[in-house]
Amino acid sequence: MLINKAVRSAAVCCAGLILLTGCGSGDSSSDSAGSDVSAAKDVFAMDTFMTLKAYGPDAEPALDAAADRIAELEKTLSVTDKSSDIWRLNSSAGQPVEVSSDTMTILQKAAEVYDKTGGALNICLYPVLRAWGFTTSEYRIPGDEELRELLENTDCRKVVLDGMTAELPSDYQVDLGALAKGYTGDEIMETLRENGVDSAIISLGGNVQSLGTKPDGSMWKVSVRDPFSPDTDMCVVEIGEKAVITSGNYERYFTGEDGNVYWHIIDGADGYPADNGLVSVTVIGDCGLDCDALSTALFVEGYPDACEQWRKSRDFEMILVTDDGKIYYTEGLSGSFTNISSMPAEVIPDA
Ligand code: AMP
Ligand code: MG
Repeated sequence: MLINKAVRSAAVCCAGLILLTGCGSGDSSSDSAGSDVSAAKDVFAMDTFMTLKAYGPDAEPALDAAADRIAELEKTLSVTDKSSDIWRLNSSAGQPVEVSSDTMTILQKAAEVYDKTGGALNICLYPVLRAWGFTTSEYRIPGDEELRELLENTDCRKVVLDGMTAELPSDYQVDLGALAKGYTGDEIMETLRENGVDSAIISLGGNVQSLGTKPDGSMWKVSVRDPFSPDTDMCVVEIGEKAVITSGNYERYFTGEDGNVYWHIIDGADGYPADNGLVSVTVIGDCGLDCDALSTALFVEGYPDACEQWRKSRDFEMILVTDDGKIYYTEGLSGSFTNISSMPAEVIPDA
């Protein structure tokens, strides 16, 4: 049943996105981060409000370099820009296409996580997303037959990656929206580092990534949204240099003519929005690309399989919110997790 409390509530409360959710840092030139030199920059790219904040004497030029890098990545990864790698790939009619190392890195990660999660993360679902109108905001509910036909061309194992060349079967199209922001976060951090910054925090539409610690050596405090009320925060985690990446059903959705609510993360098993018991998945780890890929995949997989994925690797932390209003988090967060919601929160059992 494609309606749940999270989205019903979001429909009431989500008047606008909270630009700085997740960024626990202050904003003045001498702020709570403990430095008297800082610079901030707002960027709109990849359909996302991005807020970048860096500390230290090199902060300003470093942020300019980061903004240039974002623009470069947007041009490479966009599904709509006719000069992008992805546009060329999607209109290649089965021919091999040479792509940039940025695109290849993401395609390889997508293939790896597709395999690891039994197809839960599937970049080939783009035609299905289009059929629902999630790419244009002209929403509609596709028929079952239409979905069945579209799903025939979504076997991600048929994407061939060879050196710097990618090849899709004709009738296939990909979209890297589930991974691009995580990769962009990694690249922003790399750019800031190369430009002399060792303390920074960024929010890419609520996905947070930090570089180093605060200038005074203390941990960053990052908040995660309450999926049942996305304009308020649900919990705070204290982190060092990490990515904190969330996939939620409240981020993009519409109410169909049938009164049901449909959201933007698709289950390749049936072509419908993934409705496997989770309304929000936050993955915390060292690599933004990994965390972004996983947060989308685990959202699709649902609670038991998400816990199994974590038990198998234990190289990331996560916070899950179930559709019955409970928070579950991994034990590695025990010392750094504070629940500020009225929902019960408990540690995910070891086995
Ligand atoms: P995220 O917010 O990182 O979870 O990414 C969600 C976005 O990824 C959606 O808005 C779609 O563009 C795309 N998407 C939706 N479902 C999937 C899926 N199962 N696998 C890969 N990408 C998806
Ligand atoms: Mg993702």
